Amino acid sequence: MEEQGSRILVVDDVVENVELLEAYLSSFGYRVEKAYDGEEALRKVQEDPPDLILLDIMMPKLDGYEVCRRLKASQQTLFIPIVMITALKEPEERIQGILIGADDFLTKPFNKLELMARVRSLLRVKKLHDQVEAQNRLLEQRVVERTAQLQEAIRELQELDRLKTEFLQNISHELRTPLTPIKGYLGAILQEALGPLSPGQRKGLLVVRESVERLQQLIDDLLAYVRIEAGRLKVEPKPVSLPELLRKTWERFLPLAQDKGQTFTFSIPSDLPPVLADPEELYRAVSHLLDNAIKFTPEGGRITVTARRVPSSQFPVPSSGPGTWNLEPGTMNFVEISVTDTGIGIPAEKLHRIFDRFYQVDGSITREHGGMGIGLAIVKQVLEAHGASIEVESEEGRGSTFRFRLPLTDR
Ligand code: ADP
Repeated sequence: MEEQGSRILVVDDVVENVELLEAYLSSFGYRVEKAYDGEEALRKVQEDPPDLILLDIMMPKLDGYEVCRRLKASQQTLFIPIVMITALKEPEERIQGILIGADDFLTKPFNKLELMARVRSLLRVKKLHDQVEAQNRLLEQRVVERTAQLQEAIRELQELDRLKTEFLQNISHELRTPLTPIKGYLGAILQEALGPLSPGQRKGLLVVRESVERLQQLIDDLLAYVRIEAGRLKVEPKPVSLPELLRKTWERFLPLAQDKGQTFTFSIPSDLPPVLADPEELYRAVSHLLDNAIKFTPEGGRITVTARRVPSSQFPVPSSGPGTWNLEPGTMNFVEISVTDTGIGIPAEKLHRIFDRFYQVDGSITREHGGMGIGLAIVKQVLEAHGASIEVESEEGRGSTFRFRLPLTDR
């Protein structure tokens, strides 16, 4: 019998009853503990919880009901089965016992077989409960261990991420250093400060200069990205002439667009008041948008940059966050800048990911378009630092529009 060896606490103030029960139970191989009043019973349960309690109701000081009530009220002893010993023909005793949580009843005088049947079945239930408890403890232990492992893995990942950012920072600086003399000498040679150039040499050197500029751009992007990652992106908004800034980007990207036979149009009202922005960072953001527009638009396509005034009532103005606009009254006028292309577009299900760092719709090594996948992440961070957000609309095969708004000053 699997419950043999279980510990049973017999509680009764009548010594003969205790001895009789002890004799019965021992003959079936159970270990018997004895208590002769309620207080002693509670103490013994506290010291070493038994597997089952046979509890007499009528006892001096603390009666069986109170003992049962207290044991069932405590999380530690709630699951110890309690069999209450009642006198025959007293149903109200049973009802009260049920109300306070007794698991079963035995009537005096005891019937040995009935006693054994009840004890056995309750012990079985208790055993199952103990097994479930043990399983739960094991599971809890495992959860604790796994959580610790996960936390360790997260710590390692964070450390790796930090090392990666540091590495990018170092490598960008290292790459930038040799570029300085290359650019210096290239300029001097092109200005013929080191001797006259043949038309062929000049042509070749102009191609070299374009590549050097591209390299410089990549390195600057990496550095900007590292600054953002390290939380060191600081924008210093001041009044900036938007037509001037956009003209600068237009001059920079026009040759690229022309090379691809694209129509490159800017539409900016000439009477636009200055915008509040960090000129360098805004230039960087617009440049990325234009670079992408040209890159992801096939030959003969159209790129349009538009700036138009919009009242703040047409969109929700952010009211909190690191880049919150601290606007004086009367400055609630905004300019909306959009970059539209007739390019390859972005599949709807990928649209939400394009601002993630390193994400590229075509991430394959054989992809047609170059790039490091950090441009839009930089744009997003730069604009967020201005308290602005970037929106995108796109249709695969038809083109995309990227759009954001900045506050205008009154001047
Ligand atoms: P990348 O260096 O690859 O251009 P970005 O962060 O600038 O990285 O852009 C992420 C991805 O978003 C690009 O690889 C491309 O798949 C998609 N994307 C960005 N701009 C456009 C656009 N104008 N048209 C189509 N796809 C675009």
